[in-house]
Amino acid sequence: MVTGGAGFLGSHLCDRLVADRRDVLCIDNFFTGSRQNIRHLHGSDHFEFQRHDVTFPLYVEVARIFNLACPASPIHYQHDPVQTTKTSVHGAINMLGLAKRVKARILQASTSEVYGDPIEHPQAEGYWGNVNPIGVRACYDEGKRCAETRFFDYHRQHDVDIKVVRIFNTYGPRMHPNDGRVVSNFIVQALRGEDITIFGDDPKQRCPDISVAQSRLDWHPTVSLEDGLAPTIAYFRELLGR
Ligand code: NAD
Ligand code: UDP
Repeated sequence: MVTGGAGFLGSHLCDRLVADRRDVLCIDNFFTGSRQNIRHLHGSDHFEFQRHDVTFPLYVEVARIFNLACPASPIHYQHDPVQTTKTSVHGAINMLGLAKRVKARILQASTSEVYGDPIEHPQAEGYWGNVNPIGVRACYDEGKRCAETRFFDYHRQHDVDIKVVRIFNTYGPRMHPNDGRVVSNFIVQALRGEDITIFGDDPKQRCPDISVAQSRLDWHPTVSLEDGLAPTIAYFRELLGR
C-alpha cells in the first residue's frame, strides 16, 4: 500500500512496485496528487486505487505500507496548515494502527525539514535539528517530527516494524510547477523567461551526510544533476505547452 500514491514521489514508487509485479494499493485524496500521475497504471492487474484521506481510519489487509501522504511544497502545505499537521500526525497514527493490526512493515517518508534551518552541516542522522515551532513552516516540520516520534514509539511500545527515511529535496517529472520549491520554480520561470524568485524562508544550507547510507545500505547517488534535469525540463515544457 502506498499512501500519497498519486503524488510526485508516490506515483514513481507505484510504477516501480508494479514493474516488480507487486500488488499495489494506492491511497490518495487528490489534495496535491493527480489522476494524470497514475493514469498509465490503471490497466495493470497489479494496480488498485482507493480514494481516501489518511486522517480517517482505514481498514484494509496489506503486507507493506509506504506512508507518503502529505503535501510537500511550501505553497501547498501552508495553504491549510491545520490539515497539514493533521495529515502528518493523525495519518501516521492511523497507518501505524493499521500496521500494528496486520503486522505489516511500514515506511515513513520523512524529510530533511526535520532539521529546520540546520546549524550542523552536512546533516547526519544523529543531528536533532534547529526548528522554529511557531513559524509558518512549523505545520510541516513539526508535523513530520511528531510523525517520526509516533513511528519510534510504535516500534518501542508495540514492536511495529518501521523504516523512516528523511528525504532531501527531490526533483523530476511529475513535480508540481511553480510550487515554491527551488527546482520547479527555477525551471518554470526560466522556460517562461521570467525573473527567478524563491519562496519564503527556505533553509540556508542543506546537504545530507550520506556516509551511513553508503556503508550500511550500499546506497550511492547514480543520477547526475545534468542527467536528472533533462527529463525534468522536458516534463515542464510539455506541461506548460498543454
Ligand atoms: P506530493 O504533494 O506530490 O504528494 C503527496 C500526496 O499525498 C499527494 O498525492 C496528495 O494528494 C496526497 N495527500 C495529501 N494529504 C493527504 C491525505 N490527508 N490523505 C491522503 N492523501 C493525501 O508530494 P511529494 O513530493 O510526492 O512528497 C511525498 C512525500 O515525501 C511527502 O510525505 C513529503 O513530505 C515527502 N518528502 C518529499 C520531498 C521532495 O523533495 N519531494 C522531500 C522530503 C520529503
Ligand atoms: N486504525 C486504522 N486501521 C486499522 C487499525 C487501526 O485506521 O486497521 C486506526 C485506529 O482507528 C486508531 C489508530 O489507527 O485511531 C491507532 O490504532 P491503535 O490500535 O494503535 O490505537 P487505539 O485504537 O488503541 O487508540
